[in-house]
Amino acid sequence: MSNVLVVNAGSSSIKYQLIAAGTGARLASGLVERIGDPVGRIVHQGIERSERELAVPDHTAGFAAMVAEFERHGTPVDSLDIAALGHRVVQGGGEFIAPTLLDDYVTERINQLSELAPLHNPGHYQAIIAARALFATVPHVAVFDTAFHQSMPPSAYTYAIDTEVAAEYGIRRYGFHGVSHQVVSRRAAEFLGRPLESLRQVVLHLGNGASACAVDGGRSVDTSMGLTPLEGLVMGTRSGDIDPGAMLHLLRAGYSPEQLDELLNQRSGLLGVARTNDFRDVRAAADAGDPAARLAIDIAVHRIRHYLGAYLVTLGGGDAIVFTAGVGENNAALRAEVCAGLEWFGVQLDPERNEAPAGAARRISADSSRVEVLVVPTDEEAEIARQTWELVAA
Ligand code: ADP
Repeated sequence: MSNVLVVNAGSSSIKYQLIAAGTGARLASGLVERIGDPVGRIVHQGIERSERELAVPDHTAGFAAMVAEFERHGTPVDSLDIAALGHRVVQGGGEFIAPTLLDDYVTERINQLSELAPLHNPGHYQAIIAARALFATVPHVAVFDTAFHQSMPPSAYTYAIDTEVAAEYGIRRYGFHGVSHQVVSRRAAEFLGRPLESLRQVVLHLGNGASACAVDGGRSVDTSMGLTPLEGLVMGTRSGDIDPGAMLHLLRAGYSPEQLDELLNQRSGLLGVARTNDFRDVRAAADAGDPAARLAIDIAVHRIRHYLGAYLVTLGGGDAIVFTAGVGENNAALRAEVCAGLEWFGVQLDPERNEAPAGAARRISADSSRVEVLVVPTDEEAEIARQTWELVAA
């Protein structure tokens, strides 16, 4: 038994991947979506791809649809050597610092942590309950997006507010995208053929969600997301950093908490400034001369450089700057904008390498660059499978 079924579930969707634990190879994948709507949908990719509409009233029905789809493809789940399920969990609070075997207690704690991640943990909880009942004979492991950042020092994770209020409400910085920052920083070290322990890296995870992480010898020492995935960089629809005074101003002007939530999480970022959240569209509009799109990119780049500079100081220098996720892996122009004018710090891009098509991990800095600049594709599912396997095989 050597495969891990990786589950990444939200309140209305279940993404899954079957991964060979030994090699990290993806054997099958799929997505159940519109759970709870009158008509849901499952897309499954085995050797062939299929797509089907059906009613998926809840997560239990979602996993049943997945099981049926494996069967239809001639690969029934009991033939798949599933050794464990690995569940991605966004918020693990201050207590989960490593992948954790799911029992009733841990499952309930994940539900209680919904307070800190109302958009994510409730969906994880529903999925974990359903999956543990359906796959009752194999271990289930929770892999937390916050765990990697539990190594941050108090100076990085503490907000300077009344400590009693902070303690009462669990207000501190947790950081997210931990699975991605962890796998990308390790693969960067592998690519460079240097010990992870010896490297000071700034990892820039730039997707629809975006965060920067200062990785010192393989440990996160600072990251740009905080209590929630709203702090830090400019994202597709999220504002990133903003003066909390602006929130007070809007509250006093009559905004409700729900309206503020919607403004900051869904109507800000690239979308708020450029009117679209897809970076390809923003880039195309900027290239065509649209000043709003140009401004959106300039703000995003300004903020990335702000964190890059801060983390190079935090790390006492830098051995590698690593780009990953949808925008980081694919948009050469953004990488060039982020690295522009940093020759004084020993950062020198090679324009041809930077423009080369995406694929595996690669170097985009010149041979003469003192700081390595890399593009390393993220693979959160393979990392969840690896961590799950490490725990259950031990
Ligand atoms: P998520 O945070 O949803 O996982 P991804 O890492 O998939 O996001 O990144 C999505 C973003 O990546 C989108 O803004 C998309 O426009 C951008 N992106 C994907 N492919 C390209 C590309 N070839 N060029 C530029 N941007 C791209």
